[in-house]
Amino acid sequence: MISIQKNLQTIRKTIINISKYYHRDYKKIKLVAVSKTKNIFDIQNAINNKQYLFGENYVQEAIKKIEIIKKTNKNCEWHFIGSIQKNKIKLIAKYFDWCHTVNKINTAELLNKHRSNISFSPINVLIQVNISEEKTKFGIKKEEIFYLAKAIKKLPQLCLRGLMAIPAKNENYEDQCLLYQTLNIYFLKLKKIYNTVDTLSLGMSKDINLAIKYGSTLLRIGTSIFGSRNN
Ligand SMILES: *Cc1c(COP(=O)(O)O)cnc(C)c1O
Repeated sequence: MISIQKNLQTIRKTIINISKYYHRDYKKIKLVAVSKTKNIFDIQNAINNKQYLFGENYVQEAIKKIEIIKKTNKNCEWHFIGSIQKNKIKLIAKYFDWCHTVNKINTAELLNKHRSNISFSPINVLIQVNISEEKTKFGIKKEEIFYLAKAIKKLPQLCLRGLMAIPAKNENYEDQCLLYQTLNIYFLKLKKIYNTVDTLSLGMSKDINLAIKYGSTLLRIGTSIFGSRNN
């Protein structure tokens, strides 16, 4: 039996310890619990243990859970971290507080349009960067970040908060570090230009250490909180 309560305690301690080691302020690192494929009881269990930020990848699945949780808990924050399908943008704009995976001007414009139809505050967005330049991965090339950022800043219903990436696993430790470091440099550059930028969404269950070392301000953790998903 996995214990979500114990897992949350452990992950919080881990974040504090790694932060201390790298001279980071652990209070500046948010923990988003990735609840994809997990049921409403698991999410409720996490909420009972003071976890209020959740990440979901699949729109339809997420909406079912968000609708139920909203009835009893208004202070949860929902982060969309999956790849964006054009026909789901309207629902993302309606149900989510954050979208981590914006990678096209067209997507940004549609998000803006649909958010405008709802009397909500702007949706927080991150630009997804394909930092490892993998052919199969989503996200833009790092050289295109500033171009897309400029376009997003013109859209009143979007609030540009920063960058998101899923670096590929690299056998060589130095090469791996270089990817994280490069992303961090781009994040700091963007932060200098735009005062709304404060978020680097980087780090999953298996790379918390490197993510914190290289400036992550938001960890997306699934397995270490809810257990493995292939069951
Ligand atoms: C599933 C997922 C996570 C969580 O991964 P774990 O390895 O289970 O912690 C984080 N980010 C994204 C984009 C994901 O799809």
